[in-house]
Amino acid sequence: MSQNPSTPVRTRIAPSPTGFLHLGTARTALFSWAYARHFGGQFVLRIEDTDVARSTQDSVEQILASMQWLGLDYDEGPIYQMQRLERYSAVVEQLIAEGKAYRCYCSPAELDEMREAQRARGEKTHYDRRWRPEPGKVLPAAPEGVQPVVRFKNPLEGDVTWDDVVKGPITINNREIDDLIIVRPDGVPTYNFCVVVDDWDMNISHVFRGDEHVNNTPWQINIFNALGAPLPQFGHVPVILGDDGQKLSKRRGAVSVTAYEDAGYLPEAMLNYLSRLGWSHGDEELFSREQLVAWFDGSHLSKSPAQWDPAKLEWVNSQYIKQADDARLAVLVAAQLLKRGLTVDVATLVPMCALFKDRCATTVALADWLIMYFAPVAPTAEDLAAHLTEAVKPALQTLAIKLAEAEWSKMGIAAAIKETITAHGIKMPLLAMPVRALVCGRVQTPSVDAVLALFTKEIVIDRLRSS
Ligand code: GLU
Repeated sequence: MSQNPSTPVRTRIAPSPTGFLHLGTARTALFSWAYARHFGGQFVLRIEDTDVARSTQDSVEQILASMQWLGLDYDEGPIYQMQRLERYSAVVEQLIAEGKAYRCYCSPAELDEMREAQRARGEKTHYDRRWRPEPGKVLPAAPEGVQPVVRFKNPLEGDVTWDDVVKGPITINNREIDDLIIVRPDGVPTYNFCVVVDDWDMNISHVFRGDEHVNNTPWQINIFNALGAPLPQFGHVPVILGDDGQKLSKRRGAVSVTAYEDAGYLPEAMLNYLSRLGWSHGDEELFSREQLVAWFDGSHLSKSPAQWDPAKLEWVNSQYIKQADDARLAVLVAAQLLKRGLTVDVATLVPMCALFKDRCATTVALADWLIMYFAPVAPTAEDLAAHLTEAVKPALQTLAIKLAEAEWSKMGIAAAIKETITAHGIKMPLLAMPVRALVCGRVQTPSVDAVLALFTKEIVIDRLRSS
């Protein structure tokens, strides 16, 4: 997509703080952020908290933490809509004064009755504009004690058209659109109104959001026009589908960014994976944040829904884990072990992460491996039956003696193992398998001398003697 160099790019993400940062919102935030960074523009964080009953400070904090974790730094914000109520009131009063909005005193019961009658006549239900002022029209007297709503006077004729950055040209006829409620009876303005005032005041040039908002856009464009405000460009990103083909939702598994942080994913892997949901750059699957910014110019956004693929995310994460610095992984694994009640010195974990990271997709999987160094292990009965044969037991006793005397290093341990197999005339795997079962609690491990060297000598000898 071409970008007009005379308009500074300003994008925003506008989450409602009614829960964790949803993966879909995180992806939209990522697109908005990358677009702004690509064009050297600004990215704004706005908190849409006008749904007072459902918004919580705790959600705000979760959202901020997830944005920070993903490295989606913003240039302005967080801006809270509830702190801008005076501004919205002023704009509402201006629209009323200009005859572009009006108070409507219909009670909920009256609206129900209206819709009922429309249904009975086989009509599509709509607000019949009974309080809409028109030249020559006599309005009913405002009833006592009813808190009115404010409605936007939507144009009655003509089309609303925009060229969606993702979906291409979209046209809706104004006859399809009701006079929208822009202020509720409690005086709080509604989403479709606040979003316009905000995007206008904050000079937003590009609005990326989920395509559940496509139907709101005609209202918003009409309000922009009524205010004489310049229109941003809109890009509606298709939904993310779960592996069952349904919209990704809480009922079908983890949908929050936090859940993936807890499950041992790295933020750069998450960022990489999320950006590929509905966007591509050739066949590139693994790329850095800098590459994403260099490539993300609003083109190659897909019109069709993206598929959430846990196996692919895991693969992407495993690639990042392999490349990650061992000291950094050690900190993350220490945090995972702490959740399991084990306080472990980070420095001890560094060489362990180096040895095991190649076979782990997440830091949780790494912790699953490394816990054997800090807590007793329980080899399965099958492994013991298969590998701890009567024939090998004397060799294990020899090994315990030799290890007790050995210099405690990979080389020292390798020498003790070699001497043991020579003395007993057995092959390496015959000894290595029961050693692994007894000391590690499992029989598939990296090279046994390297694995043993990271235990203390005492633990290894104790576990060998337990045979
Ligand atoms: N608060 C809205 C949401 O979370 C924002 C929609 C928009 O970006 O305009 O869906």
